[in-house]
Amino acid sequence: MDIHLNSKIEQLNKVGKALATRLRKLNIFSVQDVLFYFPSRYEDYRGVLLIKDIKEGQAVSVRAKVQIIANRRSFRRRGNITEALISDDSGSMRVVWFNQPYLAKTIKQGAEYIFSGVVKTDMVGPQFVCPSFEKASLQTTHTARIVPMYALTTGITHKQMRFLVSQCLPILKSIEDYLPGHIVRKFGFPSIQTAVKNAHFPSDENILKISLNRLKFDELFILQMKAEMSRAQRMGTKAPRMKFYADEVKRFVADLPFQLTKTQKVSAWEILKDIQNGSPMNRMLSGDVGSGKTVVCAIAMYDVALNKGQSALLAPTEILAKQHFDTITKMFSKNDVKIALYTRSQRETNFFKNDIELSKKEISEIIASGSADIVIGTHAILSDKMEFKNLCFAIVDEQHRFGVEQRKTIRKKGEGAHFLSMTATPIPRSLALLAYGDLDLSQISEMPLGRKPIKTRLVEQFNRQAAYDFIRTQIKNGRQAFVICPLIEDETDEKKSVMKEYEHLSKEIFPDLRVGFLHGKLKSEEKESVMQKFSARGGGKYELDVLVSTSVVEVGVDIPNAGVMMIEGAEHFGLAQLHQFRGRVGRAEHQSYCLLFTNTTSEKSLERLKFFEKHTNGFKLAEKDLETRGPGEVYGTVQSGEGRLKLAKITDVEVIKQAREVAVEVAKDLEKYPALKQKLQDFEQKVHLE
Ligand code: ADP
Ligand code: MG
Repeated sequence: MDIHLNSKIEQLNKVGKALATRLRKLNIFSVQDVLFYFPSRYEDYRGVLLIKDIKEGQAVSVRAKVQIIANRRSFRRRGNITEALISDDSGSMRVVWFNQPYLAKTIKQGAEYIFSGVVKTDMVGPQFVCPSFEKASLQTTHTARIVPMYALTTGITHKQMRFLVSQCLPILKSIEDYLPGHIVRKFGFPSIQTAVKNAHFPSDENILKISLNRLKFDELFILQMKAEMSRAQRMGTKAPRMKFYADEVKRFVADLPFQLTKTQKVSAWEILKDIQNGSPMNRMLSGDVGSGKTVVCAIAMYDVALNKGQSALLAPTEILAKQHFDTITKMFSKNDVKIALYTRSQRETNFFKNDIELSKKEISEIIASGSADIVIGTHAILSDKMEFKNLCFAIVDEQHRFGVEQRKTIRKKGEGAHFLSMTATPIPRSLALLAYGDLDLSQISEMPLGRKPIKTRLVEQFNRQAAYDFIRTQIKNGRQAFVICPLIEDETDEKKSVMKEYEHLSKEIFPDLRVGFLHGKLKSEEKESVMQKFSARGGGKYELDVLVSTSVVEVGVDIPNAGVMMIEGAEHFGLAQLHQFRGRVGRAEHQSYCLLFTNTTSEKSLERLKFFEKHTNGFKLAEKDLETRGPGEVYGTVQSGEGRLKLAKITDVEVIKQAREVAVEVAKDLEKYPALKQKLQDFEQKVHLE
């Protein structure tokens, strides 16, 4: 049967049900998918040598006749061994395979084959262990060339994959080159046909390189095209225009208890400008932990309130929602701004039955009638039942804690609502362009004046008592301390747990101090009560000196008086997470400290922690994390867009830039490029299917 690009893989030779299922696991559904499933690496077996010339450790090919081939059972290996003796004019060598007894039949004695593999030499002489092989000919697929190696799942062999690809190669000519001709020429790219063919079966390393370059570019270019198109669509959507109340906003800023930093001002200005537009803002505000993002979004919320519009601020935890409610209420104490808090267990406003828990119905009405200007909450505000009268501005704090769908839901609560997401994850600009092509970026790049860099120490176990003494001194000086443990309760003794540490610290180490504990399994009211005691936000004096907690205090929590962050089992946390913990202290003018404890002996973990000890810059830490953990883990797959990339990497900054520039230009008249338009539509469909 004739196959074409969209043919199902089942139509290919030797693809049965089982193999088709396995291929689908690799996201390979059609002939086109096979062609675009690129090797993850290559092995260079171009050197065809005489047996007498091969050396231990070499990756080589040998053209030789099979003298004998036979199976035998191996008791040591509990399986089958196929052994062969092969020879050319210069000499002979042994070949072995494991657990593939059929090879003794498929490989014919007396016939000539090419074998490619790494030479292993023992006392008896050289041998190949599990080499690739194929019938000797001039056109080889598996041997005597640069051989493609694929990332595969169990049940698919490289040989099968190469066989599939070579079956599909003739169809390549029906791919239309979707990259506009002038772009191909501008960068000196090979045609799409040449590029795909050589990405699988390169004739030399030079053509391989330029082929991969072109394909990388294509991938990034298509993503950027999508971003440009979604931007165009957004620009065509109507949004509520916010008038800029310059006098009022300036007065509000002047009344703040501190001076805004330069980049806080710039960011606020960028946001205020965007929301004056008739199309929805889509902006990200990034700034290291403690750089002061909350006040920047409060400025914009104020302007929206003056416009009689509503704002919604979404926070990832109840603790954080409540904190925002308290601090934002305080910020607006001189202004007539109505604020409501809504989470699963908290319902409060700063104006209606002040200080009394409201019913769900009451708070819903307050929000639906438009009497609250600012609504602060957790994902509870995403519920269908929660309606806004006039939501103009939606903000998501710690945006990496929310999924794409949740972020979409909050925007949809208001027609054409302006959208701001806030993050402390340090995102290099190149990555932002790649992952969020249709997104504008504001960055707060400096810390408020007077902050002292936090001193970080990896503390040796024998200094534990000294560390406790140090904490006591800090507390006597009026500070508070966090103690972070990896677990709530421990089943084993390996990791420190909150409950055990709490017992130990409150009874034995600090019996004279006020110690509390916090973890995610506590009831909301209990959590809230602990946070109130630790934070003194109610206005009174704080009632806890030491808070033993799990990672529930990882993000956002703002206790300016805290001076020590002690982390147990530090090796269990990623650098980004440690950085977030450390960001809980050093939020005011006093010197703060971060003390790390670990029992690990792993060189790698220790090296990572020592790196953390030396560096306070979030960007540096994220880069280091990238080296060891890959962008998916550091930024989340959705964010990095890495899931969608096969060849390109987020570190290909130059190519990303190029792709972006070209996309911006080409998107202006896409109609001129029908093949590209088609490709984008196909891509769209595929993304929807996933
Ligand atoms: P984050 O960016 O981590 O969300 P916050 O908005 O919670 O940071 O701010 C951290 C702390 O810094 C808060 O206590 C806030 O009041 C304070 N702050 C914000 N901006 C400034 C500034 N320009 N000068 C001094 N303190 C500031
Ligand atoms: Mg914050």
